[in-house]
Amino acid sequence: MNNFLLDKEYIAGTYNRFPVEIVRGKGSVCFDSNGKKYIDLGTGIAVNTFGFCDDLWVEAVTKQLNLFQHTSNLYYSEPCIKLAGMLAERTGCKKVFFSNSGAEANECAIKAARKYATDVKGIKEPVILTLVNSFHGRTITTLAATGQEIFHKDFLPLTDGFTYTVANDIEALYESVEKYCPSAIMFEIVQGEGGVVPLNKEFVEALVKVTKEKDILLVVDEVQTGNGRTGELYGYMNYGFTPDIVSTAKGLAGGLPIGATMLFEKVKDVFTPSSHGSTFGGNPVSSAGAVNIISRIDEVLLDGVKLRNKIIVDTLKDAEGIKSISGMGLMLGIETEKPASDIVKECINRGVLVLTAKTKVRLLPALNIPLDELKEALEIIKEVCAL
Ligand SMILES: *Cc1c(COP(=O)(O)O)cnc(C)c1O
Repeated sequence: MNNFLLDKEYIAGTYNRFPVEIVRGKGSVCFDSNGKKYIDLGTGIAVNTFGFCDDLWVEAVTKQLNLFQHTSNLYYSEPCIKLAGMLAERTGCKKVFFSNSGAEANECAIKAARKYATDVKGIKEPVILTLVNSFHGRTITTLAATGQEIFHKDFLPLTDGFTYTVANDIEALYESVEKYCPSAIMFEIVQGEGGVVPLNKEFVEALVKVTKEKDILLVVDEVQTGNGRTGELYGYMNYGFTPDIVSTAKGLAGGLPIGATMLFEKVKDVFTPSSHGSTFGGNPVSSAGAVNIISRIDEVLLDGVKLRNKIIVDTLKDAEGIKSISGMGLMLGIETEKPASDIVKECINRGVLVLTAKTKVRLLPALNIPLDELKEALEIIKEVCAL
């Protein structure tokens, strides 16, 4: 049996895969099992920050792999200490908890917010306000945080203590805060799975204002927007405020599993021994990858992200068959005249890997994608959208 059939036979049916089996890649180019070449504008959903098998990243990861691969959190180990220090220095957070995925980073954010409300404010059953159309993960609790009914159905009952308000609607935000007295508000700077919808400046200002007035924790889910994706190290930095908790994952280790929950001043001491933990959390190989990635996301790299954003927007914005472009940096959603799923299929046929988000075509290229490869892929997308 070939791998497509074996996959269908043995792997749980949660994924609707394209008929492509990737066997190797370098930078922003990869090859399938038939030897066909693709330019990758998806990076495994914002994970391969510097593309496939980036030389410096491979070197950093391999070096650690040859020292030790895991120790457990009963002992000290340098890679995660180094990474936490770098994150603290770059964001101003005071402490970091490491896990292995976005959902886990958000679980930790939720536990931190709840424990702070309970410890400091004596609130027995704190409420967390999130946004309609958000996406925070697939565990039962992060599904509860996700403000989209389509993800909830078939998995009830979910965890209690979440309520939702509409993104970019300031009046609804004030009403929800009055009505539910939330202990924390959790949101994405750009709703990724929700269709690449950025929060507007006025709404973020209102969020910051109301959380300050009412002493509510600001929790930013930067699982997708983090690690240079939006043109700043973290998406919230585009808006110039200081959050209380930031979760990140996807691109942090450049292709290895990791999650990080950054705890700022207010909540820095909320966790005490045994109050939270993770067997794999802070894995030395993933952490070594992340140290390499974060150390390379500097001003020059971020200017490159902004330049690539401009090239994409300028090339596509008035193109035939394209209605609008949303997003920030290298996290972009394209509203097309034809169904996004048809565009994605035809792009794959023509050797370009792109994604969808709701009804849009979504682009999440490597932060350092070579300009000639980017331009070549954009010409193909343009052709396909104009068909
Ligand atoms: C992908 C994503 C998650 C979930 O991350 P996993 O690593 O799949 O658990 C959570 N929040 C946001 C904003 C995401 O984009």
